[in-house]
Amino acid sequence: MQASLRRGVGFAMLSTGILFTATVAAAQVPAVQQPSSEAEISVGLSGGVPMGRWTEGLLYDGISPQPWLKSAANWFPGTEDVQPNEMRITFMGSAPMIRPGQMNTSIYVELGNGDNFVFDIGEGSPANYVAARVALNQLKRVFITHLHVDHFGGLPYVWMFGTWAGGWHEPLRVYGPSGRTPEYGTETMVEGMKMMTGWHRDAFSVFPVGKGWDIETHQFDFRDNGGTVYEENGVKVIHWQRSHAKDGASAYRLDWNGLCFVWTGDGRPSELDAKYAKGCDVYVTELQTEIVEINSGVQGVPPFLARYTIDTHHTPGYASGYVANQVQPRLFMTTHMNFDPFMNEETVAEVREHWKGPYHFGAPDGIVVNVTKEQIWVREGILPEYPNSRAPQFDFTNGQLVVPHPPTSREEIQEPFVREQQIDPAEYYPPGYYPELLEDWPVDGDLVVPLEALPENLRESMGAAWRLKLHNMEVLEGQGSE
Ligand SMILES: [Zn+2]
Ligand SMILES: [Zn+2]
Repeated sequence: MQASLRRGVGFAMLSTGILFTATVAAAQVPAVQQPSSEAEISVGLSGGVPMGRWTEGLLYDGISPQPWLKSAANWFPGTEDVQPNEMRITFMGSAPMIRPGQMNTSIYVELGNGDNFVFDIGEGSPANYVAARVALNQLKRVFITHLHVDHFGGLPYVWMFGTWAGGWHEPLRVYGPSGRTPEYGTETMVEGMKMMTGWHRDAFSVFPVGKGWDIETHQFDFRDNGGTVYEENGVKVIHWQRSHAKDGASAYRLDWNGLCFVWTGDGRPSELDAKYAKGCDVYVTELQTEIVEINSGVQGVPPFLARYTIDTHHTPGYASGYVANQVQPRLFMTTHMNFDPFMNEETVAEVREHWKGPYHFGAPDGIVVNVTKEQIWVREGILPEYPNSRAPQFDFTNGQLVVPHPPTSREEIQEPFVREQQIDPAEYYPPGYYPELLEDWPVDGDLVVPLEALPENLRESMGAAWRLKLHNMEVLEGQGSE
């Protein structure tokens, strides 16, 4: 098309104005043809597609793309708003063995009411949140299934840098199980993390932090099966125990607006999973494929180490499908698994031994699931390798941006003799260039900026999630009053 247009223009340049118009018109407008008959059109558009698509393939019973998706093929972060009645699930980490495409374990659940929930925050997974255009100060509720590092290693980073990046007005809330004894509970882990990050927190206290350091731990008794760990704004999360070699490992089920999500975390297949996950829309468990010896050939690990690890800690592929068949979800997913060509088909075969319904991998990282009452769709998310962070997100209900005053200053936490060794900037800045250095926090007390005084780009970028929440809540409330 482009080539023929160029030819047309080239010809026209040697010709009269009339010829120019005629040549371009001929290249652009196809001739109108006689329409095919209704029967032919019907065969052309839907021939071979059975009425009732549910019989088409094993994977597509109730699985189809929602009409608002910008692309049914891939998810491009930042291009689609979560709809008022939607639950969107993104796999931000998907394997215990850390590698660039599988950053340990983390599942991000966003709801149409504007709330979001982080289930596990494995090492490295914050990078995927950034790539998915989630501002770190949007992550305020983290549910940890158990205290293996591949499930919470990213927590210090989210706490430290989420606070720096605007996490000033609401403490980070961490939900997690008790251990059999207090030293093995989530509260103790958080106390230990406070100690571990002591230097970092004091160093970052030269910045606005507000309530950022006031981390809240919500520890529940791991034995209290079916107990409620969270209930707010129409969202309920319950938990139950998992057999994962050591007491404390737990599973979660989230219910909101007639939609349900389960993440079992790690553990041996259990009767309790079938009981508490029963009928859930999206049931996610972990999976280990039964190819221990081949895997040892690939990874160079003695087979008994894998066999022993699975048999004391994990859910074999066969067992995952066995439990899924009891749960009967609309979509069954597995994660916390290697995503590799040499094992993927085997993994599916093992799951299929017992589970014949819709099944997809929650791996590799970036798999996104759109869930509504009518449809579920699974896509690969396109996560850039070098993303820039999303702007910090603020609640502008009060009509202002409040930047809290930093609790400390460089003078308070650094000896003068260290600063004195700094090279005079006049020596490295080129002649004629000398920026106005900001070496002291420039404001006394909190900086309070009315929205109308904010530059438009900041008002728009930092208030985007807040505006979407307002819009969706309006729609949801409208539905409620009907
Ligand atoms: Zn794990
Ligand atoms: Zn584990």
